[in-house]
Amino acid sequence: MKISIMGSGYVGLTAAAGFCKLGHEVICMDVDKEKVKFIKSGNLPLYEHGIKETIENAIKQKRFSITTNLSEAVDNSEITFITVPTPEASDGKQETKFLNTASKDLGKELKKKNVYHLVVVKSTVVPETTEKLILSNIESESGKKIGNDFGLCVNPEFLREGEALKDFLKPDRIIIGEYDKKSGDALESVYKDIKTVIMKTDLKTAEMIKYASNTFLASKISLTNEIGNICKKLGINTYEVMKGVGLDHRISPYFLRSGIGFGGSCFRKDIRALIWKSESLSYDSKLIKEVIKLNENQPHKIIELLEKKAGSLKGKKVSLLGIAFKENTDDIRESPAISIAAELIKKGAKISIYDPKASDNFKKIFPNIHYFNDIEKCLFKSDACLILSEWEQFRQLSNVHFSKMKNKIIIEGRKILNPNMVDNFEGVCW
Ligand code: NAD
Repeated sequence: MKISIMGSGYVGLTAAAGFCKLGHEVICMDVDKEKVKFIKSGNLPLYEHGIKETIENAIKQKRFSITTNLSEAVDNSEITFITVPTPEASDGKQETKFLNTASKDLGKELKKKNVYHLVVVKSTVVPETTEKLILSNIESESGKKIGNDFGLCVNPEFLREGEALKDFLKPDRIIIGEYDKKSGDALESVYKDIKTVIMKTDLKTAEMIKYASNTFLASKISLTNEIGNICKKLGINTYEVMKGVGLDHRISPYFLRSGIGFGGSCFRKDIRALIWKSESLSYDSKLIKEVIKLNENQPHKIIELLEKKAGSLKGKKVSLLGIAFKENTDDIRESPAISIAAELIKKGAKISIYDPKASDNFKKIFPNIHYFNDIEKCLFKSDACLILSEWEQFRQLSNVHFSKMKNKIIIEGRKILNPNMVDNFEGVCW
């Protein structure tokens, strides 16, 4: 099928690569001229396994292109996916300006088209947004009527950054919120070669499934961290506890790794948007609010522990290993490393950083920190080392790597070090 995608970020480019792998023809469109130029010249503005190679292959087979011209994208496709950002505005409210512009622009293009076109909302949008904002914009700008002239679906994305393409091609489920059967069937045919459960719902149910999923996962992390904090005080290994807990099939063994809390572009803003939406309906979602509060506090736990061990941090050299919000990505959005670095700076510490991929992004926020391409150089003469994300290479660290530190204070914010290779380290909750 011929697919266009509005928005060439993490989700747009992952979907583009995934659709190319499924044999479709993809044309990406983005308003960011620099980004489009960068991608056209054979680069990728993000680090994600397999996407660059897949897109390179698809370019050779003439199945991938990218443009800033929406007419070109819509004219050369039967389906348009919307993958523009939906960040937090203020007080948790979802910022809809990108969706607003995208759907109006799309409506103007559809006005010129004489054949049926399917619009699919893949951005994460608060329940009722697709019907009240996107549908109404497209109808008013195109002068067309949903049903015969164009179709509409909500198709939330559940990829995990770091595993994005894999998740896209082997999802646990595909949720299709359909305006009508014709729309849903057309979208289902795009995914026909993916073997998974396809669940069809109405538009707002599909929107809500995404929020409920993210809220559930984030709650699982905050609850696990809370148990970890209690275990730490009791001298109990929380990882052993959660292993026992995860053997219960009602709970599952996933998302039970306590640490410095969740980051990433989605959990916080999606949960805050859900809280905002429920408040607009006069519902006070107490439990969900607490998930965010606990997560905001969790990164401070590692500093508390560091101060307990090192005393005042003024003038001390603290090395941070891993600053991306998780391993295998260069994404630092909402990374706990940001609040940890800010707090360390406030307390007068001198920071040195090593991350395999995320340093350039971190530099945009903290230009005056020392960044290293080599772990041992980063650790040289450090008073302490904090490990903040689970890059596979940290699993290989041994006493040799830490031997150049001035004081061997090592604290893990994520459980990654091998106790057979490193001695004298402590975890934030273990
Ligand atoms: P992103 O910021 O990485 O990329 C969005 C892109 O959209 C940018 O390149 C921007 O220039 C472009 N854009 C903005 N307005 C546009 C317009 N009118 N026309 C065309 N392009 C436009 O965002 P992302 O991380 O890919 O997230 C996109 C959406 O997907 C959000 O709603 C997000 O919540 C959701 N989502 C993200 C993830 C994730 O892991 N990143 C996972 C699931 C869902």
